[in-house]
Amino acid sequence: MFNLENIVRKNILHLMPYSSARNEFSGKNGTFLDANENPFGTLNRYPDPYQMELKQILSAYKSIPLENIFIGNGSDEIIDLAFRIFCTPGKDKALTFSPTYGMYDVSAAINEVELIKLPLNDSFQINQEEFEKTLKIPNLKLIFICSPNNPSGNCIDNIEKIMQNFNGIVLVDEAYIDFSKQESYLSKLKQYPNLIVSQTFSKAWGLAAARVGIAYANNPIISIFNKVKPPYNVSKLNQEAAIDALNNKVDFEKNKKIILDQKKWLEQALMELPVIKKIYPSDANFLLAETTNANSIYNQLVSQQVITRNRNNIVNNCIRITVGSPAENQQLINALKNTI
Ligand SMILES: *Cc1c(COP(=O)(O)O)cnc(C)c1O
Repeated sequence: MFNLENIVRKNILHLMPYSSARNEFSGKNGTFLDANENPFGTLNRYPDPYQMELKQILSAYKSIPLENIFIGNGSDEIIDLAFRIFCTPGKDKALTFSPTYGMYDVSAAINEVELIKLPLNDSFQINQEEFEKTLKIPNLKLIFICSPNNPSGNCIDNIEKIMQNFNGIVLVDEAYIDFSKQESYLSKLKQYPNLIVSQTFSKAWGLAAARVGIAYANNPIISIFNKVKPPYNVSKLNQEAAIDALNNKVDFEKNKKIILDQKKWLEQALMELPVIKKIYPSDANFLLAETTNANSIYNQLVSQQVITRNRNNIVNNCIRITVGSPAENQQLINALKNTI
């Protein structure tokens, strides 16, 4: 049975959180002499520590209660907070798959947590037999599943089984879910008290510079995230950028459609090139392409000022290509025609 109290680090479970000026008085009207702010300027006041306006819009849009939403300074902050909340340094372990998003590794190392990495199979899916063996590993607290997966682009199958069989936290990183036809695991939150779904404004919402990430989970988990976060962790400018984006879904849908149409175009154009051997199926806004020689092709593209991501170190001879604007994609294809 999953029991959150057994999974959260004891020091975090008993933590008395910092109480900011805006925690102690959250009214709108008055003369504010409580937070040592400067009375002059336009960004002189601290932002809402709990980003209530943004959460209200998200709550209505996703049909998720407000108290099940946490906003972070990018979803990278959510990954880091998960390590800090659930994994005692030098003792507890986490698990993910390979190849996947590199920040799980880095964040684990920063937090002195051993990250077990299970290889995905040739279709970038979980090897169930291998996986079931690892569930018994002592002190395993946290599993990261990136779906759609970066850098392979596919959605991972059978995630629900993991929530059912694992007594620790399952964090499903849905950074690319807006590009996918597959349904988000948000719909499973009610069923699984050990599920965290993370999403971001950085990809489909076009706000990578704003650093706004979201964790959705049941309230006991969200309450702990709120205890641990820095008091004003999302700036006012960034909250407003996310609110503006959510209030402009026409542009969101329009741009998403262009990107998805371009993905199809790009896939076809790439397949006609002799240096491209294979394109993996993608549910995201990028394509993983197997080439004849990734290091060489990557460098030949750089010399023509087209930058892709060389993933040769983690998937043999593969480059990851982000779907750009129609002009950018054409530029890539032209440059690839010059490569050998
Ligand atoms: C890009 C990416 C992120 C980073 O999201 P931020 O909100 O920009 O921090 C997280 N997870 C995956 C899998 C990504 O590819």
